[in-house]
Amino acid sequence: MNNITLSHGSGGDATSKLIEEVFRNEFHNEYLDRMEDSSVVPGGKRLALTTDSFVVQPLIYDGGDIGRLSVCGTVNDILMSGAEPKYLTAGFVLEEGLDTGLLKRIVHSMAETAEEAGVRIVAGDTKVIEHKGGKDDNPGLIINTAGVGFLNEKVNVGASLIKEGDAVILSGNIGDHHAAIMKERLSIRNEKIKSDNAPLNEMVRRLFDNGIEVHALRDVTRGGLGTVLNEFSKESGQDIFIIEEKLPVSDAVRDFSALLGLDILYMGNEGKMVCTVAAKDKDKAVDIIRRSKYGEEAEIIGYAESPVTAGEGKLILKTGIGGERIVGPLYGEGLPRIC
Ligand code: MG
Repeated sequence: MNNITLSHGSGGDATSKLIEEVFRNEFHNEYLDRMEDSSVVPGGKRLALTTDSFVVQPLIYDGGDIGRLSVCGTVNDILMSGAEPKYLTAGFVLEEGLDTGLLKRIVHSMAETAEEAGVRIVAGDTKVIEHKGGKDDNPGLIINTAGVGFLNEKVNVGASLIKEGDAVILSGNIGDHHAAIMKERLSIRNEKIKSDNAPLNEMVRRLFDNGIEVHALRDVTRGGLGTVLNEFSKESGQDIFIIEEKLPVSDAVRDFSALLGLDILYMGNEGKMVCTVAAKDKDKAVDIIRRSKYGEEAEIIGYAESPVTAGEGKLILKTGIGGERIVGPLYGEGLPRIC
Protein backbone atom coordinates (compact mmCIF):
# COMPACT_ATOMS: atom_id res chain seq x y z
CA MET A 1 0.00 0.00 0.00
CA ASN A 2 1.91 3.07 -1.22
CA ASN A 3 -0.63 5.81 -1.44
CA ILE A 4 -4.14 6.40 -0.22
CA THR A 5 -6.82 6.01 -2.90
CA LEU A 6 -10.52 6.82 -2.80
CA SER A 7 -11.22 3.08 -2.37
CA HIS A 8 -9.60 3.26 1.08
CA GLY A 9 -12.62 5.28 2.14
CA SER A 10 -15.19 3.01 0.52
CA GLY A 11 -16.00 1.05 3.67
CA GLY A 12 -15.13 -2.18 1.87
CA ASP A 13 -12.08 -4.40 1.66
CA ALA A 14 -9.56 -1.59 1.07
CA THR A 15 -10.85 0.26 4.13
CA SER A 16 -10.44 -2.87 6.27
CA LYS A 17 -6.87 -3.25 5.01
CA LEU A 18 -6.08 0.36 5.84
CA ILE A 19 -7.50 -0.05 9.35
CA GLU A 20 -5.57 -3.28 9.90
CA GLU A 21 -2.25 -2.07 8.52
CA VAL A 22 -2.15 1.50 9.74
CA PHE A 23 -4.47 2.08 12.67
CA ARG A 24 -4.99 -1.18 14.58
CA ASN A 25 -1.29 -1.87 14.96
CA GLU A 26 -0.74 1.40 16.73
CA PHE A 27 -3.99 2.02 18.55
CA HIS A 28 -4.98 -1.38 19.93
CA ASN A 29 -6.45 -1.59 23.42
CA GLU A 30 -9.21 -3.59 25.11
CA TYR A 31 -11.92 -1.17 23.98
CA LEU A 32 -10.90 -0.49 20.41
CA ASP A 33 -10.06 -4.14 19.73
CA ARG A 34 -13.72 -5.07 20.07
CA MET A 35 -14.30 -3.20 16.79
CA GLU A 36 -17.92 -2.39 17.59
CA ASP A 37 -19.81 0.63 16.27
CA SER A 38 -19.08 2.45 19.49
CA SER A 39 -16.88 1.76 22.51
CA VAL A 40 -18.41 1.11 25.91
CA VAL A 41 -16.12 2.37 28.67
CA PRO A 42 -16.36 2.75 32.45
CA GLY A 43 -17.33 6.30 33.39
CA GLY A 44 -17.12 8.98 36.07
CA LYS A 45 -19.74 11.12 37.77
CA ARG A 46 -18.66 14.43 36.27
CA LEU A 47 -17.19 14.39 32.77
CA ALA A 48 -15.24 16.94 30.77
CA LEU A 49 -15.73 16.70 27.00
CA THR A 50 -14.03 18.51 24.17
CA THR A 51 -13.28 18.28 20.46
CA ASP A 52 -10.80 19.91 18.10
CA SER A 53 -9.78 19.59 14.45
CA PHE A 54 -6.16 19.81 13.38
CA VAL A 55 -5.12 21.24 10.03
CA VAL A 56 -1.52 22.30 10.67
CA GLN A 57 0.84 22.86 7.75
CA PRO A 58 3.46 21.46 7.44
CA LEU A 59 2.33 18.07 8.77
CA ILE A 60 5.72 17.42 10.36
CA TYR A 61 7.81 20.17 11.93
CA ASP A 62 10.69 20.54 14.34
CA GLY A 63 9.44 19.38 17.76
CA GLY A 64 6.25 17.67 16.64
CA ASP A 65 3.76 16.67 13.96
CA ILE A 66 0.01 16.77 13.34
CA GLY A 67 -0.39 13.43 15.16
CA ARG A 68 1.27 14.55 18.39
CA LEU A 69 -0.53 17.87 18.12
CA SER A 70 -3.95 16.23 17.72
CA VAL A 71 -3.49 14.30 20.97
CA CYS A 72 -1.87 17.11 22.99
CA GLY A 73 -4.43 19.70 21.91
CA THR A 74 -7.40 17.70 23.13
CA VAL A 75 -5.67 16.28 26.22
CA ASN A 76 -4.63 19.78 27.30
CA ASP A 77 -8.12 21.20 26.79
CA ILE A 78 -9.52 18.49 29.07
CA LEU A 79 -6.79 19.12 31.64
CA MET A 80 -7.66 22.83 31.68
CA SER A 81 -11.07 22.02 33.18
CA GLY A 82 -9.23 20.30 36.02
CA ALA A 83 -10.22 16.86 34.74
CA GLU A 84 -8.09 13.79 34.18
CA PRO A 85 -8.13 12.89 30.45
CA LYS A 86 -9.21 9.28 29.84
CA TYR A 87 -10.49 8.53 26.34
CA LEU A 88 -10.04 10.00 22.90
CA THR A 89 -11.69 9.43 19.55
CA ALA A 90 -9.77 10.05 16.34
CA GLY A 91 -11.33 10.99 12.98
CA PHE A 92 -9.11 11.12 9.90
CA VAL A 93 -9.90 12.92 6.66
CA LEU A 94 -7.25 11.77 4.18
CA GLU A 95 -6.60 13.31 0.79
CA GLU A 96 -6.36 10.90 -2.10
CA GLY A 97 -2.70 10.22 -2.92
CA LEU A 98 -1.46 10.67 0.65
CA ASP A 99 1.72 8.70 1.18
CA THR A 100 0.96 5.72 3.44
CA GLY A 101 4.43 5.84 5.00
CA LEU A 102 3.76 9.41 6.10
CA LEU A 103 0.36 8.41 7.49
CA LYS A 104 1.94 5.54 9.44
CA ARG A 105 4.52 7.88 10.93
CA ILE A 106 1.80 10.29 12.05
CA VAL A 107 -0.38 7.50 13.49
CA HIS A 108 2.63 6.11 15.36
CA SER A 109 3.30 9.54 16.82
CA MET A 110 -0.34 9.75 17.98
CA ALA A 111 -0.06 6.37 19.69
CA GLU A 112 3.16 7.36 21.45
CA THR A 113 1.71 10.66 22.62
CA ALA A 114 -1.51 9.00 23.82
CA GLU A 115 0.62 6.61 25.86
CA GLU A 116 2.59 9.49 27.34
CA ALA A 117 -0.62 11.37 28.19
CA GLY A 118 -2.30 8.31 29.73
CA VAL A 119 -5.29 8.29 27.36
CA ARG A 120 -6.76 5.50 25.25
CA ILE A 121 -8.01 6.03 21.73
CA VAL A 122 -11.29 4.12 21.86
CA ALA A 123 -13.02 5.01 18.61
CA GLY A 124 -12.00 6.16 15.18
CA ASP A 125 -13.13 6.92 11.66
CA THR A 126 -11.46 7.36 8.29
CA LYS A 127 -12.71 9.14 5.20
CA VAL A 128 -10.88 9.76 1.93
CA ILE A 129 -11.54 12.88 -0.12
CA GLU A 130 -10.20 14.03 -3.50
CA HIS A 131 -6.97 15.96 -3.41
CA LYS A 132 -7.82 19.48 -4.48
CA GLY A 133 -4.43 21.12 -4.02
CA GLY A 134 -2.18 22.30 -6.84
CA LYS A 135 0.61 20.23 -8.39
CA ASP A 136 3.19 21.41 -5.85
CA ASP A 137 0.92 20.76 -2.92
CA ASN A 138 1.30 17.22 -1.55
CA PRO A 139 -1.83 15.36 -0.45
CA GLY A 140 -2.39 15.91 3.25
CA LEU A 141 -4.77 15.04 6.05
CA ILE A 142 -6.95 16.56 8.72
CA ILE A 143 -7.38 14.93 12.12
CA ASN A 144 -10.23 15.49 14.53
CA THR A 145 -9.90 14.28 18.09
CA ALA A 146 -12.57 14.38 20.76
CA GLY A 147 -11.83 13.59 24.38
CA VAL A 148 -13.43 12.66 27.67
CA GLY A 149 -11.97 13.26 31.10
CA PHE A 150 -13.11 12.55 34.64
CA LEU A 151 -13.53 15.40 37.06
CA ASN A 152 -12.99 15.08 40.81
CA GLU A 153 -16.04 16.29 42.75
CA LYS A 154 -14.10 18.99 44.57
CA VAL A 155 -12.40 20.51 41.54
CA ASN A 156 -13.93 23.69 40.20
CA VAL A 157 -11.92 26.00 37.94
CA GLY A 158 -12.87 28.76 35.53
CA ALA A 159 -11.85 32.26 34.51
CA SER A 160 -14.88 33.72 36.30
CA LEU A 161 -13.45 32.43 39.61
CA ILE A 162 -10.32 34.61 39.44
CA LYS A 163 -10.07 36.75 42.59
CA GLU A 164 -8.28 39.93 43.58
CA GLY A 165 -4.69 39.13 44.55
CA ASP A 166 -4.46 35.92 42.51
CA ALA A 167 -1.01 35.22 41.10
CA VAL A 168 -0.75 34.56 37.37
CA ILE A 169 1.68 31.75 36.52
CA LEU A 170 2.91 30.82 33.04
CA SER A 171 4.27 27.28 32.71
CA GLY A 172 7.19 28.11 30.43
CA ASN A 173 8.65 29.90 27.41
CA ILE A 174 6.12 31.37 25.01
CA GLY A 175 6.10 31.50 21.23
CA ASP A 176 7.93 28.23 20.53
CA HIS A 177 5.24 26.48 18.45
CA HIS A 178 4.42 29.59 16.43
CA ALA A 179 8.09 30.24 15.69
CA ALA A 180 8.68 26.58 14.75
CA ILE A 181 5.82 26.61 12.22
CA MET A 182 6.97 29.91 10.72
CA LYS A 183 10.53 28.67 10.52
CA GLU A 184 9.41 25.67 8.44
CA ARG A 185 7.19 27.75 6.15
CA LEU A 186 9.92 30.30 5.51
CA SER A 187 12.62 27.59 5.23
CA ILE A 188 14.70 29.35 7.86
CA ARG A 189 17.35 27.20 9.50
CA ASN A 190 17.56 27.55 13.25
CA GLU A 191 18.13 24.42 15.33
CA LYS A 192 17.24 26.20 18.56
CA ILE A 193 13.64 26.80 17.52
CA LYS A 194 11.39 23.80 18.20
CA SER A 195 7.68 23.43 18.83
CA ASP A 196 6.69 22.92 22.45
CA ASN A 197 4.05 20.28 21.53
CA ALA A 198 3.43 18.50 24.86
CA PRO A 199 0.74 17.04 27.12
CA LEU A 200 0.59 18.90 30.43
CA ASN A 201 -0.85 16.12 32.63
CA GLU A 202 1.90 16.04 35.24
CA MET A 203 1.91 19.70 36.23
CA VAL A 204 -1.89 19.90 36.42
CA ARG A 205 -2.24 16.69 38.43
CA ARG A 206 0.44 17.75 40.89
CA LEU A 207 -1.12 21.17 41.47
CA PHE A 208 -4.39 19.52 42.52
CA ASP A 209 -2.71 16.66 44.42
CA ASN A 210 -0.85 19.23 46.50
CA GLY A 211 -4.01 21.13 47.35
CA ILE A 212 -3.09 24.30 45.47
CA GLU A 213 -6.07 26.67 45.27
CA VAL A 214 -6.23 26.96 41.48
CA HIS A 215 -8.86 29.39 40.20
CA ALA A 216 -8.34 29.48 36.42
CA LEU A 217 -6.43 27.27 34.00
CA ARG A 218 -6.06 27.68 30.25
CA ASP A 219 -3.63 26.42 27.65
CA VAL A 220 -1.95 29.20 25.71
CA THR A 221 -2.66 28.14 22.12
CA ARG A 222 -3.76 30.09 19.04
CA GLY A 223 -4.12 33.78 19.85
CA GLY A 224 -1.36 33.59 22.45
CA LEU A 225 -1.02 34.83 26.01
CA GLY A 226 -2.51 38.24 25.18
CA THR A 227 -5.76 36.67 24.03
CA VAL A 228 -6.06 34.19 26.90
CA LEU A 229 -5.41 36.82 29.56
CA ASN A 230 -7.97 39.14 27.94
CA GLU A 231 -10.48 36.31 28.35
CA PHE A 232 -9.42 36.03 32.01
CA SER A 233 -9.97 39.73 32.67
CA LYS A 234 -13.26 39.82 30.80
CA GLU A 235 -14.74 36.74 32.51
CA SER A 236 -13.60 37.70 36.00
CA GLY A 237 -13.97 41.48 35.83
CA GLN A 238 -10.48 41.76 37.35
CA ASP A 239 -7.56 43.72 35.95
CA ILE A 240 -4.76 41.36 35.05
CA PHE A 241 -1.30 42.91 35.35
CA ILE A 242 1.67 41.18 33.73
CA ILE A 243 5.28 42.20 34.11
CA GLU A 244 7.19 42.24 30.83
CA GLU A 245 10.52 41.29 32.42
CA LYS A 246 8.99 38.18 33.95
CA LEU A 247 7.68 36.71 30.69
CA PRO A 248 9.73 33.60 29.90
CA VAL A 249 10.93 33.59 26.27
CA SER A 250 13.92 31.75 24.85
CA ASP A 251 16.64 33.90 23.29
CA ALA A 252 16.14 32.12 19.96
CA VAL A 253 12.42 32.92 19.83
CA ARG A 254 12.97 36.47 21.06
CA ASP A 255 15.46 37.13 18.25
CA PHE A 256 13.31 35.35 15.67
CA SER A 257 10.18 37.32 16.58
CA ALA A 258 12.07 40.63 16.64
CA LEU A 259 13.44 39.90 13.17
CA LEU A 260 10.00 39.14 11.76
CA GLY A 261 8.15 41.81 13.72
CA LEU A 262 6.00 39.34 15.67
CA ASP A 263 4.50 40.23 19.04
CA ILE A 264 5.38 37.49 21.52
CA LEU A 265 2.11 38.12 23.36
CA TYR A 266 0.09 36.79 20.40
CA MET A 267 2.25 33.85 19.39
CA GLY A 268 0.68 30.39 19.60
CA ASN A 269 1.95 27.56 21.79
CA GLU A 270 1.03 23.89 22.08
CA GLY A 271 2.55 22.92 25.42
CA LYS A 272 2.06 25.89 27.72
CA MET A 273 -0.60 26.83 30.20
CA VAL A 274 -1.37 29.87 32.27
CA CYS A 275 -3.10 29.60 35.64
CA THR A 276 -4.17 31.84 38.45
CA VAL A 277 -3.78 30.64 42.02
CA ALA A 278 -4.60 32.13 45.42
CA ALA A 279 -1.76 34.46 46.49
CA LYS A 280 -0.94 32.27 49.52
CA ASP A 281 -0.11 29.34 47.21
CA LYS A 282 1.89 31.12 44.50
CA ASP A 283 5.43 30.12 45.50
CA LYS A 284 4.46 26.52 46.11
CA ALA A 285 2.56 26.41 42.82
CA VAL A 286 5.38 27.74 40.65
CA ASP A 287 7.78 25.36 42.38
CA ILE A 288 5.48 22.40 41.62
CA ILE A 289 5.21 23.39 37.95
CA ARG A 290 8.98 23.85 37.64
CA ARG A 291 9.54 20.34 39.00
CA SER A 292 7.01 18.84 36.57
CA LYS A 293 7.68 17.62 33.05
CA TYR A 294 7.64 20.55 30.55
CA GLY A 295 7.46 23.14 33.35
CA GLU A 296 11.12 23.97 34.06
CA GLU A 297 10.83 27.57 32.81
CA ALA A 298 7.65 28.45 34.73
CA GLU A 299 7.37 31.97 36.14
CA ILE A 300 4.96 34.05 38.18
CA ILE A 301 4.26 36.70 35.56
CA GLY A 302 1.64 38.87 37.21
CA TYR A 303 -1.40 39.25 39.40
CA ALA A 304 -5.10 40.13 39.45
CA GLU A 305 -6.39 43.35 40.99
CA SER A 306 -9.87 44.84 41.27
CA PRO A 307 -10.27 47.61 38.68
CA VAL A 308 -11.22 51.19 39.52
CA THR A 309 -14.56 50.69 37.74
CA ALA A 310 -15.97 47.47 39.15
CA GLY A 311 -16.35 44.67 36.61
CA GLU A 312 -14.36 46.34 33.81
CA GLY A 313 -11.19 44.29 33.90
CA LYS A 314 -8.36 44.86 31.45
CA LEU A 315 -5.05 43.25 30.63
CA ILE A 316 -2.23 45.62 31.50
CA LEU A 317 1.44 45.09 30.65
CA LYS A 318 4.00 46.69 32.94
CA THR A 319 6.92 47.44 30.65
CA GLY A 320 10.63 47.31 31.42
CA ILE A 321 10.93 51.09 31.58
CA GLY A 322 8.18 51.44 34.16
CA GLY A 323 5.28 52.21 31.80
CA GLU A 324 1.90 50.55 31.57
CA ARG A 325 0.16 49.52 28.37
CA ILE A 326 -3.30 48.05 27.88
CA VAL A 327 -3.09 44.90 25.77
CA GLY A 328 -6.13 43.87 23.69
CA PRO A 329 -6.90 40.39 22.35
CA LEU A 330 -5.57 39.30 18.95
CA TYR A 331 -7.68 40.80 16.18
CA GLY A 332 -7.90 39.27 12.72
CA GLU A 333 -6.23 36.19 11.38
CA GLY A 334 -2.96 35.53 13.16
CA LEU A 335 -0.94 32.80 11.49
CA PRO A 336 -3.32 30.42 9.66
CA ARG A 337 -3.10 26.61 9.89
CA ILE A 338 -0.90 26.67 12.95
CA CYS A 339 -2.84 23.89 14.74
MG1 MG B 1 -7.61 25.55 25.15
